[in-house]
Amino acid sequence: MASINLENVQKAFGKVVAVDQLNLKINEGEFFTFLGPSGCGKTTTLRMIAGFYYPSKGVVRFGEKDMTRVPPEKRNTGMVFQNYALFPHMTVFENVAFGLKVRKVASSEIKKRVKEVLEKVRLEKFSDRQVSQLSGGQQQRVALARALVIEPEILLLDEPLSNLDAKLRDEMRTEILQLQRDYHITTIYVTHDQAEALSMSDRIAVFNFGVCHQVGTPSEIYNEPANDFVASFIGEINFIPMKIEKTDKQTIEVSILDGSKRLHVNHTPFNYREPKANEDVVLSIRPESIKLSPNRFDSVNALEGKLELIQFFGSMIEVLVNVNGLMLKVNMLNSNDLSHLQKGTNVWINLPEESIRIIPKISGE
Ligand code: ATP
Repeated sequence: MASINLENVQKAFGKVVAVDQLNLKINEGEFFTFLGPSGCGKTTTLRMIAGFYYPSKGVVRFGEKDMTRVPPEKRNTGMVFQNYALFPHMTVFENVAFGLKVRKVASSEIKKRVKEVLEKVRLEKFSDRQVSQLSGGQQQRVALARALVIEPEILLLDEPLSNLDAKLRDEMRTEILQLQRDYHITTIYVTHDQAEALSMSDRIAVFNFGVCHQVGTPSEIYNEPANDFVASFIGEINFIPMKIEKTDKQTIEVSILDGSKRLHVNHTPFNYREPKANEDVVLSIRPESIKLSPNRFDSVNALEGKLELIQFFGSMIEVLVNVNGLMLKVNMLNSNDLSHLQKGTNVWINLPEESIRIIPKISGE
């Protein structure tokens, strides 16, 4: 097992800077995810760790060791590609044994290790099958077995579930986590799927346009997003334009709706730091944190609005409330009597002080 350190790493392809000023420390045994939209630099970063690309600037270390210009075959990393990159005319056994043969491992040892890893991924009965005759999920497991059989220090997974249907993706998610725990292997997982990232990772790095915006545990990223890009990429969120009126040790007073309403926000270190000069900030609140009632709340942060839209999702109900032209999404569990929810009626909502975040606005929208 190894930790991974990226120090001021940059990768440019001609004029395109795919990754810029990246500093990351991935701990030994950690399940670490690179999350972000298409083209944000996730795969490029993964490839620099695998050695398929060398950085234009900066240093890549495994533990203390400088690996920046070490070729891939000397890195002891196992990689699973998005399209699996299996050899279609070889059997499952031959595919998995390939890396060991290249490393000139004795054939009795190869048999033993391939058998063990195929048992781990529940493919022992398919050893002699050609991979072209396997289902997508089975091919995925062959790719995992092939990466794991060389006993790598680091496992690199590039969108490994994106070619599978939703049900199989759920199953493979659990299997990958189980394998990672069994092997205690430092793992980097690349995905653009926030649900995968939140449910699987010890920590997540959120990328956009080649820049890493935040590193944190799933709950830190969800509850304390660093800016409006992170907040909106992960889960649903309401943004409300605002102006800071007053701050003291406990409370920040802000005005919204062109100054016609004042709200109170908890003043805590994660919620708010003094904005830099000219920094744009925005008030944000998750839809499940907003309370809704037909009656007025006894709260400074109560707002009256009209129910514009009601959508039923089984366990959850999503409504859209129009507060003087400001549309706010509210999610509620389908556990109470919600018969009073009728489109067009007036309702009250409350934005609890402790659930509001004031965050930098970087997206320019
Ligand atoms: P995806 O989820 O679509 O795979 P990604 O987040 O992995 O996207 P990268 O593949 O790392 O993104 O690409 C980052 C940027 O670098 C993109 O603008 C891409 O077009 C560019 N890029 C990547 N590889 C190359 C290359 N070999 N030559 C030129 N530009 C490249």
